[in-house]
Amino acid sequence: MQLSYELKTLRLLHPFILSDSRIETKDVIIIRIEHEGTAGIGESSPSRYYGEPPESVLECLGKAAVLLKRFKDPSAIDDIMQWLLQHFPENNSARSGIDIALHDWLGKKLQMPLYKCFRLDKAKTPLTSFTIGIDELNVIEKKIHEAESYPILKIKLGVGDLDYEIIKSIRKVTDKTLRVDVNEGWNKEEAALKIDWLAREEVELIEQPLPKENYDDMIWLKQRSVLPLFADESVKTNEDISGLRECFHGINIKLDKCGGLREAMRMIKTARKHELKVMLGCMIQTAIGTTAAAHISPMADFADLDGHLLLTDQSFKGMEIKNGKIILNDKYGIGILK
Ligand SMILES: [Mg+2]
Repeated sequence: MQLSYELKTLRLLHPFILSDSRIETKDVIIIRIEHEGTAGIGESSPSRYYGEPPESVLECLGKAAVLLKRFKDPSAIDDIMQWLLQHFPENNSARSGIDIALHDWLGKKLQMPLYKCFRLDKAKTPLTSFTIGIDELNVIEKKIHEAESYPILKIKLGVGDLDYEIIKSIRKVTDKTLRVDVNEGWNKEEAALKIDWLAREEVELIEQPLPKENYDDMIWLKQRSVLPLFADESVKTNEDISGLRECFHGINIKLDKCGGLREAMRMIKTARKHELKVMLGCMIQTAIGTTAAAHISPMADFADLDGHLLLTDQSFKGMEIKNGKIILNDKYGIGILK
């Protein structure tokens, strides 16, 4: 089997501002696996935060392209991914891109959309939230109007007293469901005060309120929080989950953090065992990555699969989103149309 890849720089509709960073473009790597005349497509959207700059993905894929020739059958996905994990344990995003391409290849070969390969019901896809990044209040208001067709908004906070102003100005213009993502931006006392206030503003849940290493503070916060708390930066792979039960009510699983669809499905099962809710999230990326994740979204409680909607370039088309609902098409594999 033949693996090829190309770096693509994506431009964002609005600069993406988090409590600790600002970005205007995002580098992703589009991956192709070809075998017996069928091509599977995948995407890696790596992040420096998780120790994977795009250069490390390119380096990993360069080596993998040579080494993967030893595998004669791309449908042996478990074997291939296990082998890649042993050789590239730190390259979760690179492995995720390969995992997606292998699944796309398999779906095309079997002439089945991916959700059917997984025996899932596409009617059960959840609604996705639409992300509103940190910005000037008048810009946020404009973004809320632009997001009119999305019934659930994920609001980025973690900027001190401005957090109150952001929510107040949003609540002036909409009574939609709001989820809040803090990206580690609060300390524990601040979190306790703000969560009580956000509950009164009818916020549904809070994502990653505290820095990921603050386990004791997270345990303290979970005991007193009136809103469900979700881990994002605190959880990468299956082995992180059991330690988070005391800290959170749920976890945000992303293919680029964990290493692909196989690991994500394993994580969903582990989360259920620990009575944790499951959100399926994404990076800023094309519809290849978000649509791949959407195929397992019938297994999740919440979805935040809007990464491709934040881009100027929509050259890859996959799932549709109608009034927030994820709609999978019935093309074979992931169902990417270009
Ligand atoms: Mg997050």
